[in-house]
Order: sequence, then structure tokens, then C-alpha cells
Amino acid sequence: MPYDPLVSHGVSPSLPLAESYWHATHKLETLPPLSKDISSDYLVIGGGYTGLSAAMTLAEASQQVALLDANSLGFGCAGRNGGFILSGSGRLSLSAIENRWGYAVAKGMQAEFDGAVNLLNQRIADFDMHVDLVKGPYLKLAHSPKQANLLCDSAKHHESQFNVASTLLSQEDLTSRFGIKGAFGGVEVNGACLHPLKLVSEYARVAKALGASLYYDSPATHIEKHKTGYVVTTPNGSVSAKHILIATNAYTPKRFHDAVDNKQFPVQSSIFVTAPMNEEQRAQTGLTAPMSFMDTRMMKYYYRVLPDGRLLFGGRGAVTGKGADNSSEKQRLYNAMVKSFPALNSIAMDYFWSGWVSVSLDSMPRIFVDNDASNNNIHRSGCTIAYAMGYCGSGVSFAAFAGQRLAQRMLGSCDVDLSLPLYCSPLKTYPFAKARRLALHGLYQWAKFAER
Ligand SMILES: Cc1cc2nc3c(=O)[nH]c(=O)nc-3n(C[C@H](O)[C@H](O)[C@H](O)COP(=O)(O)OP(=O)(O)OC[C@H]3O[C@@H](n4cnc5c(N)ncnc54)[C@H](O)[C@@H]3O)c2cc1C
Repeated sequence: MPYDPLVSHGVSPSLPLAESYWHATHKLETLPPLSKDISSDYLVIGGGYTGLSAAMTLAEASQQVALLDANSLGFGCAGRNGGFILSGSGRLSLSAIENRWGYAVAKGMQAEFDGAVNLLNQRIADFDMHVDLVKGPYLKLAHSPKQANLLCDSAKHHESQFNVASTLLSQEDLTSRFGIKGAFGGVEVNGACLHPLKLVSEYARVAKALGASLYYDSPATHIEKHKTGYVVTTPNGSVSAKHILIATNAYTPKRFHDAVDNKQFPVQSSIFVTAPMNEEQRAQTGLTAPMSFMDTRMMKYYYRVLPDGRLLFGGRGAVTGKGADNSSEKQRLYNAMVKSFPALNSIAMDYFWSGWVSVSLDSMPRIFVDNDASNNNIHRSGCTIAYAMGYCGSGVSFAAFAGQRLAQRMLGSCDVDLSLPLYCSPLKTYPFAKARRLALHGLYQWAKFAER
């Protein structure tokens, strides 16, 4: 059965990798599991972008660091996402952040979001990373006339208040460029995409070269606090560490550690990739070169043209892990694509997979170093436990940035404004944890009618 964070006991080494286009086009190097008891100053739990980036930062600062992943590196979202490089994270736009926390905080958050994209580009250049980076337009499409007006107002506000330049597109502009149905206007900005699994490989290569010890197939099953640090148990060995960084995001087991239990809600997103479009399909859809799209629905559809001319199309997935691969889920997404691009009505679906994104209660991610609760003890003993998660489905650039910030916070070398909502408080606890799935199901039913 596919992994379900709210049902399964945790990610295990025996779970199969996602049957994704990314895994079909890139083979990860395998690494040995932890097979003895070791000690390390820092232990990172989770080998996605957050964890690998934290390990890179710590190793760059000449710290002793070990990293465990329960399966292979990139088993979670990092090996399953769409590869869109987005400036932002969480579910809140800069205007929404401004409304809630004020203009200064929104500017501070914008600096962090832009910093994330800059960090990614910088690392790709500095470490000569081969990640199939492609640039091309990124279009936000309004799915209703009302959303077209809102999108237009928001683009103007972002330009005047946050200096984000964009081009407004009318329905006619869109029709003349694309054979797309159901888009009532849009906004175009410069975009970029990459091969997400190759990025995992490149982070792993660099982290190892910098001196981090990485272990595959080594689930952390128990975290125990001792006087001078933590002991983390895995099936075939343990790690004694002074500092723990939890980077398991939506793949966090349902009972793991007080710092993260019930602090985020794993929600499934699914993607399929078509066969390469033929000349006629490319001409009829206007999808002739790498470019990416996202719509304005609450349950957004996102799609991009891959470098080999296939269309990658994603949207919300099933409510439970058990339902992830149901043919009805595949058909629902496929129908949504055909509704937008009638010319693709008989194109083959070559790949389909799903992954869990981590949704925080207030839609704001957190990069948090725990220093409350047993807190006094933590500080007296000089040990810390920290986490970064809750990116709500936007993490290709931001997760690695969060990993870097988390490591910097633990090293005491973070030069940012720690009063930003990202940093100053822990993730909020979900009330009525058991009812979350029911509420999500209700929301999907509502969206089916409201967002046709
Ligand atoms: C279908 C889909 C499409 C997406 N598309 C985009 C996109 O186009 N652009 C974008 O910006 N974002 C996208 N995202 C979100 C983005 O992929 C994530 O925000 C990002 O990858 C999170 O990285 P991470 O390292 O925090 O978590 P993950 O990559 O999920 O890593 C967590 C790791 O923790 C490991 N783990 C779990 N439990 C344990 C344990 N007990 N012990 C050891 N290891 C453990 C898991 O095996 C996993 O490898 C998408 C997500 C999904 C699911």
C-alpha cells in the first residue's frame, strides 16, 4: 500500500520509489544504511532538499554532521515534485502576508523568498550542478472572470509595492497564443524549472564532498533525550547527537516527536506526464517550448512543458494514501487537462505518481529551533532540536533555503530578522487532528461544484 503519513507507522526502506518520470529519467546513487552505533555533533533526519541543504551548510561550516533517510534520498516530495522554481512558500501571497502582518513583514518575507531562489541559482553555478535547468514564461491563469480581475489587481499591487514586474494578459491574448479553454485572463512572469531528482543527487554529491555522512534506508524510529544530547534509534544502529534537525516534512510519521506531532497536515498532490506531444498537438495547444502554468483555483492545477515536449500536469490528489493510484484519480486529472487542452484528448498518460505536501495550520511554514518546554534543560545541556516544514507545496527553492537557515540558526550565525513569522513561533497544533481528513474530503466536494 502507498505510504500514508496519517496511517502508516513511518517511511520504511521496503517502500518502492515513486513511478515518476523523474525516476525513469535519472538513477540515484545508492548509499549504505547505518549499520552500527555512531556519534555526531549534528544529526539531520530526512534526506530531501531541507535535510540535504542543512547538512551542506553544517558541513561547510566544518561541523560533524550525519543524515538519515528512511528510504532513499528524495523518497519524499523532493523526488516527486513538478520542478517549478517558485519565489514563495506556504499558501500566502505577499498581499495576504501584508494584510495579516503588515507591509514591513511582507517585505521581509519577500527578501527570504527571493533569497531562496538566489541560493538555488548560486549553488547550481558554484557547484556546477546538472539539473536540467530551463527558463521560460510562467503564467498564472484566472479560472473565472472574477479571478481575472483579482489577478490583475494583485499584479498591479505587487508591481507598485513589491517591485514584481509582470505582464497582464487578456483572454484574447491567451487565445491567440494557446489553444487553452477556460482561462479568463492571466499574468506572465519569468519562470524556470528543473529536474527535481537530479537536484537531490547534486545536493547529495556536494554534501558528501563537504564531509557529511549520508545514510539510506535508515528510518529514525525513536528519539530519546539524555543529559548530554539525544540518541536516535534506527533498525541497525543508533546515532548519539547533540543537535537534531527534523527535516521529514509531510513524510513525518504520525507519532514522532512532541516538537512536530500534529503540527502539519499531509495533503496529497498528484502528477501525470503525457507522451511527447506531436507537431499537430504542439501547434494546436501552443505548448511549443518549455513554459509553466498555474491556475487560480483553490485546488490548483499546475502544468509545464518538459524539455522533451511532454506535458506534466498536476493537481490535488486523493484524500488517503490508499486511494492515490485509483484509476478515478488518474481520470479526474486527465479530464481536467483535456478540458483545458481539447487537442490533447487522446494523448497517452505515460507516468502517474503522487506525493504528500506539508500544510501548516496558518499557511505559513516554520524554520524553528525549539527552546521552550523542557527547554531549560535543552539550554543548560547545550542541546537543541529544530525543524523546518509546512511549505504547503512550494519548496523546490524554499526547502533548501529553509534547511540552510535552520542550520545557520543552530550555529548561531543567522543574520535575519528572527521576528518574521517564519522564525518566531513554532508550527501551530492542529485541533481535532482526527477530523482533518473528513474536513478535507468536504472541501474537495465543495470545490468540485464551486470551481468547475
Ligand atoms: C506532487 C508534488 C508536486 C510539487 N511540485 C512543486 C513544484 O513544482 N515546485 C515547488 O516549489 N514545490 C513543489 N512541491 C513541494 C516540494 O516538493 C516540497 O516542498 C519539498 O520537496 C520539500 O522538501 P523536504 O526536504 O522538506 O521534504 P521531502 O522531500 O518530503 O523529504 C522528507 C524526507 O524525510 C524522510 N523521512 C521521513 N520519515 C523519516 C524517518 N523517520 N527517518 C528518516 N527519514 C525520514 C523521507 O523518506 C523523505 O525523503 C511539490 C510537492 C508534491 C508532492
